[in-house]
Amino acid sequence: MIDGRMYFIKAACAGLEMDPLTTVDQWADEKRVLNTVASREAGNYRTSRTPYLREIMQVLSVTETEVTDIVVMKATQIGGSEVANNFIGYIIDCAPGPILYMLPTAELAERHSRSRIATMIESIPTIKDKVTPPKSRTGGNTVLAKNFVGGALYMAGSNSGAAFRNVSIRYLILDDIDGFEPDIGGEGSPVSLAERRTDTYSSRKKVLKISTPTQKGGSLIEKEFLKSDQRYYHVPCPFCDTLQILIFSTNNEEYGLKYTEENGEITDVWYTCMSCREKINEHYKNKMLKKGLWIPKQPNRTKRGYHISGLLSPLGFVSWRQIAQEFIDSKNDLMAMKVWVNTRLGEPYESAWEQPEWENLRLRCEPYQPMKPPIGVVFITCGVDVQENRIVVVLRGWGIGEESWLIWHGEIYGEWESQLDDLIAFNFLRDGTSIPVLGIAIDSGYKTQQVYHYCRNRDSRVFAIKGERARNKPVLGKPTEQDLNWKGKRIPKGVKLWPVGTDTAKSTLYGRLKNNTTPGPCCYHWYESVTDEYFLQLTAEKIETHIKGGFPYLEWVKTRDRNDALDAEIYAYAAAIRAGLLWLGDSKNPKKTAASQAPSKKKNKVTVKSCFMNSEF
Ligand SMILES: [Zn+2]
Repeated sequence: MIDGRMYFIKAACAGLEMDPLTTVDQWADEKRVLNTVASREAGNYRTSRTPYLREIMQVLSVTETEVTDIVVMKATQIGGSEVANNFIGYIIDCAPGPILYMLPTAELAERHSRSRIATMIESIPTIKDKVTPPKSRTGGNTVLAKNFVGGALYMAGSNSGAAFRNVSIRYLILDDIDGFEPDIGGEGSPVSLAERRTDTYSSRKKVLKISTPTQKGGSLIEKEFLKSDQRYYHVPCPFCDTLQILIFSTNNEEYGLKYTEENGEITDVWYTCMSCREKINEHYKNKMLKKGLWIPKQPNRTKRGYHISGLLSPLGFVSWRQIAQEFIDSKNDLMAMKVWVNTRLGEPYESAWEQPEWENLRLRCEPYQPMKPPIGVVFITCGVDVQENRIVVVLRGWGIGEESWLIWHGEIYGEWESQLDDLIAFNFLRDGTSIPVLGIAIDSGYKTQQVYHYCRNRDSRVFAIKGERARNKPVLGKPTEQDLNWKGKRIPKGVKLWPVGTDTAKSTLYGRLKNNTTPGPCCYHWYESVTDEYFLQLTAEKIETHIKGGFPYLEWVKTRDRNDALDAEIYAYAAAIRAGLLWLGDSKNPKKTAASQAPSKKKNKVTVKSCFMNSEF
């Protein structure tokens, strides 16, 4: 700990310091000690453990004067988030200057600051000495802004609006940019706003953009990577030395990562060399990584771009077997497959949830009766969309592997409350057994107080929901209390409002309508007498890529006036998740599917354990 006066002396000297000859990787190998809390690889940081990160850290170093822009499009669990941490530690210690570190939200920035940055500063005496102590009278050390000798670290969320608007930035880190807001308060993209702050440093700046990609065409990191020199890590075959990019063989390519399976379980996994076709076992991987080389696809470009596939993940991180097993587990579920492609291959996912053709869905109707649950239905849920003069209701039956059957679709006009009571109290019988109605989700976006009043006076299966359009939200989020007393305290048994991530739910539903067309997991079924109007409403939206401030983002848009059946279907799905649908699992695979979790970053947001540190990417 240094006192305030000492701090001023150090700060005054700092302006005279020359940039050092050390590089980020050398600094990390010498200084960085990893968190010991539940970390598999606690202890000194070693770049040799993840050799593909070495060049990235070298070009981030101030000794590399030719490169100012670095883009990293990556899988998760490959050690990528340590690049930014090492970079920050190096700047504070060796090349001080103002840093802006931006994450998707202010909450994430705060959490990252507390859990990662503060821990790193505490663990390295030479940088701890340089950072202003939190209680110093010279001030300047809070969770989101830390002064240090010769510079400052500002942390912000992409939704933070005017944060640090007037600050000049030498080092800009945009982490997880596929989760960034496309626009802040009508002022434009947070990415371009942040980049503008580096203008004064021109050739001395360093801008690092790092993310796992999301949707093809709507992915910011993909867009940045495509503008770069597009480097891929090539590793040599242990048998013939041919340098190659590791790929996953999803079809019948003659080379790539291959596996055999029995009843959905991987029995063997290996890599077939693109040149000599030898079978390469995984234990060769670390040796191959050490001899790897980054080779650009577009060598004439100045912006550096690195793609890191999860297949490069060293032994002890994520194995080839695990990646292949996850591929098999996700095959029937489009959202799970998207997460797999993004987080394991580090690649954007090609959209497969375009608008389904309603006539094709109509042709799939089956000869069963409405209100009579077919074999396979374990429980029923109800989704209700509230309109001016009516409600639109979908009753849906759910079975193993999220397979589902439409039980009833219709509209109730006028005073709907007692009619809805009758509908959900109906005794749904199959072979003398009652199939229970386990959840009733009612949209409160329109007639809010009427819906709250209805929910307040019913049992806990009945709940109010509200659609949330933001990207990457879970289908069903955490509820908030709506009934508070005059002290602002919660009233027992008061109304709770549950947020529904409509983008995620619609993507999941459209993916299933398009891809899961045969009976089995995730397949949707309809009875024959359902109306054409239902199908027209069900397919009334499509996903479009829009551009705001030069950056792409995806948005659901209506192609027909009425989409009530689509909304009611989504609410019925949300009700099924609350009722425990995920735990019904799959007959072969009793694990829950990934479909209903938010894709993305909260990682895409898949929460994973880092091998370097026990935390979230
Ligand atoms: Zn070979």
